[in-house]
Amino acid sequence: MLNNPKYRVLLYYRFVHIDDPEAFTAEHLQYCKDLGLKGRILIASEGINGTVSGTWEQTEKYMNDMRRNPLFKGMVYKIDEAEGHAFKKMFVRHKKELVTFRYDQPLDPNVKSGKRLSPQDFYEQLQQEDVVVIDGRNDYEYEIGHFRGAIRPEVESFREFPEWIRNNLSQFKDKKVLTYCTGGIRCEKLTGFLMNEGFQDVSQLEGGIVTYGKDPDVQGRLFDGKCYVFDERISVPINRTDEDVVIASCYHCGKPHDRYINCPTCNLQHVCCEECEDAHYRFCSAECRDHAPEDYKYEKMEVPL
Ligand SMILES: [Zn+2]
Ligand SMILES: [Zn+2]
Repeated sequence: MLNNPKYRVLLYYRFVHIDDPEAFTAEHLQYCKDLGLKGRILIASEGINGTVSGTWEQTEKYMNDMRRNPLFKGMVYKIDEAEGHAFKKMFVRHKKELVTFRYDQPLDPNVKSGKRLSPQDFYEQLQQEDVVVIDGRNDYEYEIGHFRGAIRPEVESFREFPEWIRNNLSQFKDKKVLTYCTGGIRCEKLTGFLMNEGFQDVSQLEGGIVTYGKDPDVQGRLFDGKCYVFDERISVPINRTDEDVVIASCYHCGKPHDRYINCPTCNLQHVCCEECEDAHYRFCSAECRDHAPEDYKYEKMEVPL
């Protein structure tokens, strides 16, 4: 549990047409900076996708202001408590698409996307026989936590999904298919794509893993490990039952562990236990240690490098 949860992290998206996304981007950046929020927001003509952190008051004001804008009224926020900001800076960026997907046809989730399942329904369907569960995230996200029985996506970025699915999952077109991702936005596009490809029965976890983990009845059951998030927390717990298990292992010693750190030299994201973090000063290898950035310091370092 958190000792002093004065901050909150918001995660949200909406597919809605924004007339002049560039102008809105500039205006929204200024607004967020004035408010004191930090985080990353993407704006496209197809909508908004954001994750921001701030104090309770700042995040409350943000949601209230957004609710007054007819475009964003009714947008769902996933809210996590935190002890501080989860980001270093505030970015608001204009992009062509909210999620980049290498596919030559337009996908509008307001027109076509998979059936939306509540956490309860998703949990029940996960346990049915003969369902195919596709993790709609990247391989390194899958690595530290995923739904039991889900297919490991052999992709390093979301844009690779169409090719990977065509080459590997075509045999499942007649099966019942469930998809899930962190907050739900990637499934909005992924399920539309699957339906275009001829998959007959496609459903998505509404609100994603993050919402699933907050459901008081389901309590994150059947999710093994932790959920990767794109902020400084790197991962958050989902399974609140005693069936919680650790599925990844330390890059150095192999002990079960599920925390990622970045190598200060090569930036490799690797799972690392606390002991090995101290022993290796966060470096992934001896070579990286020899080539440390000049100003690098590790607080528990006994002798300087
Ligand atoms: Zn270790
Ligand atoms: Zn390295």
